[in-house]
Amino acid sequence: MSFSSLGLSEQLVRATTDQGYETPSPIQQQAIPAVLSGRDVMAAAQTGTGKTAGFTLPLLQRLAENPRNGKGPRVLILAPTRELAAQVHDSVNLYSKYVPTKAAVVFGGVKINPQMMKLRKGVDVLVATPGRLMDLYQQNAVRFNEVEILVLDEADRMLDMGFIRDIRKILALLPAKRQNLLFSATFSGEIRKLAEGLLDNPVQVEVAARNTAADNIKQSVYPVDQNQKTALLSKLVRENGWEQVLVFTRTKHGANRLTQKLERDGITAAAIHGNKSQGARTRALADFKAGEVRVLVATDIAARGLDIKQLPQVVNFELPNVPEDYVHRIGRTGRAGESGHALSLVSADEGKMLAGIERLIKKQLPRTEVEGFEPTNNLPLKPKGKPDPSRARNRNGSGGNNGKGRSFAGKPGGRSQSARNGSRQGAGA
Ligand code: AMP
Repeated sequence: MSFSSLGLSEQLVRATTDQGYETPSPIQQQAIPAVLSGRDVMAAAQTGTGKTAGFTLPLLQRLAENPRNGKGPRVLILAPTRELAAQVHDSVNLYSKYVPTKAAVVFGGVKINPQMMKLRKGVDVLVATPGRLMDLYQQNAVRFNEVEILVLDEADRMLDMGFIRDIRKILALLPAKRQNLLFSATFSGEIRKLAEGLLDNPVQVEVAARNTAADNIKQSVYPVDQNQKTALLSKLVRENGWEQVLVFTRTKHGANRLTQKLERDGITAAAIHGNKSQGARTRALADFKAGEVRVLVATDIAARGLDIKQLPQVVNFELPNVPEDYVHRIGRTGRAGESGHALSLVSADEGKMLAGIERLIKKQLPRTEVEGFEPTNNLPLKPKGKPDPSRARNRNGSGGNNGKGRSFAGKPGGRSQSARNGSRQGAGA
């Protein structure tokens, strides 16, 4: 299997060779021919699967096959966060190296004027966050009458972030005849409803099962008291010689506090979250990628879509409130076939959240206590209802149902049909 056998032109294949890609990833094998065929696509895929190239390469080819002279944009790619938008834009630039496509990115938190100037010059592919795109539209800086292809990237997160109204407004402004590509890590009822209204007889593409983490990621739980977490994290970073670890906290404030404590402990750290300026976020990420900062502390929203190559280690300093976020978080490690380790520091007050996560991933995570950090309050090993077996120390609860729901609905048999008719079956979790 090669990129050219998928029907991509020599110019696009050359761009992938420049990136060192040898074979198309599973999602690329499915998505590239589907997009080239001109059909709508609904893809269940997380960051790290190669989805960006999966939609970018074929859409670039479609543009090249059919040159136009307008001001564009001909392709609109909507993404939930500035970081993801910037990353997708970088990818479009890389893959379009040998084709005459002009790409631009617009997002909030930075001055709008330079973005207006860029749009005025004309652009083929526009990557945007929904809010800023609507601002630009309202100020007559962008028109949508030439849009041929719409991509919704990480659609689930866009809905989580409350962009549904902006998205619906934008959809209403697009030409009716167009190709639509929807990418989402999870498929809730709300996403299916959106997909139903948007997609016309879509090709369904699916690689990793919904809400199941990739097999190449080792997951563990370290039970520890809340007030011991920072000390334990410092010890783990030092003793394991971790040089690049992404740490998740629940709050922005928590991210700042942890960063300061680590720094005081002599471990270089930086925080990335929504209260930081775009400049500070970009700098933190660049320093982390360059190896100048060992620990990047992030909140869920800020971390969404971060593409950091071969990140070996992810730590949940606190568990997320939403179980799905756990799957997104640990998807930051073990990327593109590499193996990775996702470790969660869990205190007794987070027992409920842990149970919710284990229900979602249909797996019990092994607990390991670290000497000197044994918690005063134990974690329940099983969700409520059973006699509490958690009194025993150092238990390895790796059993559990290893079931893999390889379907959009996350339930056997719930798949394409429910996705197409927007059924709410299996939407919960
Ligand atoms: P994405 O899921 O689009 O965020 O991509 C994740 C990472 O995989 C990026 O760093 C890409 O550069 C890389 N990647 C994409 N396609 C391939 C491929 N076919 N072979 C190797 N790496 C790839």
